[in-house]
Amino acid sequence: MNSSHKGKKFLIIFVLLLAVGLGGTYFYFAETEMPAIQVSPDKGYVGQKSPLAFSLTDKKSGLSKVRVEAVRQETSRTLLFRDFGQGVYEWRSQIQPGEKGLEDGEFVLRIIARDRSWKNLFKGNKAVREFRFVMDTQVPQVNLETFRHNLNQGGAALVGFRTSEPVQKAGVTIGDYFYPAYRESDKHYLCLFAFPYNLDPGQDEPLVQVVDRAGNVKKSGFNYHVNTRAFEQTVINIPDRFLQTKMSHFQDLYPNVTDKLELFLKVNQDLRRANRKRLTEIGLETSPKPLWSGRFLRQKGARKSGFASRRTYLYQGQEIDRQTHLGVDIASLARASVMAANSGRVVFSDWLGIYGQAVIIDHGLGLQTLYAHLSERRSGKGDLVEKGEIIGRTGATGLAGGDHLHFAVLVSGLPVNPVEWWDQNWVENNIARKIRRLKK
Ligand SMILES: [Zn+2]
Repeated sequence: MNSSHKGKKFLIIFVLLLAVGLGGTYFYFAETEMPAIQVSPDKGYVGQKSPLAFSLTDKKSGLSKVRVEAVRQETSRTLLFRDFGQGVYEWRSQIQPGEKGLEDGEFVLRIIARDRSWKNLFKGNKAVREFRFVMDTQVPQVNLETFRHNLNQGGAALVGFRTSEPVQKAGVTIGDYFYPAYRESDKHYLCLFAFPYNLDPGQDEPLVQVVDRAGNVKKSGFNYHVNTRAFEQTVINIPDRFLQTKMSHFQDLYPNVTDKLELFLKVNQDLRRANRKRLTEIGLETSPKPLWSGRFLRQKGARKSGFASRRTYLYQGQEIDRQTHLGVDIASLARASVMAANSGRVVFSDWLGIYGQAVIIDHGLGLQTLYAHLSERRSGKGDLVEKGEIIGRTGATGLAGGDHLHFAVLVSGLPVNPVEWWDQNWVENNIARKIRRLKK
């Protein structure tokens, strides 16, 4: 009697311990932390070539399964399924819904992930997240609104066009250059572009390029003609006197360069390149509407150096460098008044490396004018200026040998031939008339 009673007691204790043990084990493995799901981007438009990137993590028990579905009007379609082995705590992947044959329109991307927890009768913790997207595989269409585009190498032109849908980027590309277009009204764009002085008219073709919200790209050719130009060649002698007087102004920028000639080459090459890059950045700070009217005014004085002249630099009779002069040099009296070539807004008024004291006026649509080597600046950043208004005085600051104005016209930061903009007929026939007609 006693022994069987004892046996029962042991059995009860054993069962209890087992239950506690199993329970403990179960509760240990049945953690309740759900897998974390992330998608990038997590909303918006999806195009033919827009990848959606996933990341799944489950730090405790690890990932078990994932299903990615596209849900549209109660029907769902599996885009991806994955059954993981042991020990996968993090997983990254991406899909291109455009490649899965998904039709255009709204859809919900549903991601269902389970972990290896013993929770829910060993099925694991289930996480579900939904993301809203719009599938758009339609390439945007470009409808031209200007039909004749005659350019000179190093000169400018204007193209107007409409797009079939709202776009996130629009402009003209030629080689590596991109000129942004500016929206004048609903889906209606104006783009001032230039045929770069250093590209080959026979080889590099301008194309209108638009990119819609889903990243679909359309490149569209248009009717154009480029006249090849021969630019002048000049030789510049660098005397010791110039190195002695000028280079001290640039010493701070290159403190380790002690040789004056070496310093000149640093300035003429590296600083020139950096300043050009800055002009491209400033070119984006522009009004989407034209601020100018009529032709641009030419500073009075003699032309000392022309646009895009190829300069060979000599020191003691030896060639030391070659650069292209990207403006027109005009000289008259020292400290002559400098006027704004057309109306606009001052976007830069400061020291600008080789250009010395400089002012840049924005005229809208990426069109800007640069006034360099000034001895005095009278306009500050943000000032609105009228055509003919005095903005400073000529000088010889920066990399200038004597008092003169270096005048440049820029299209989205690229210098173009100012002669065109001084010509009333050229401005009227190539730019102004087109803008007026498209405004109607
Ligand atoms: Zn110059």
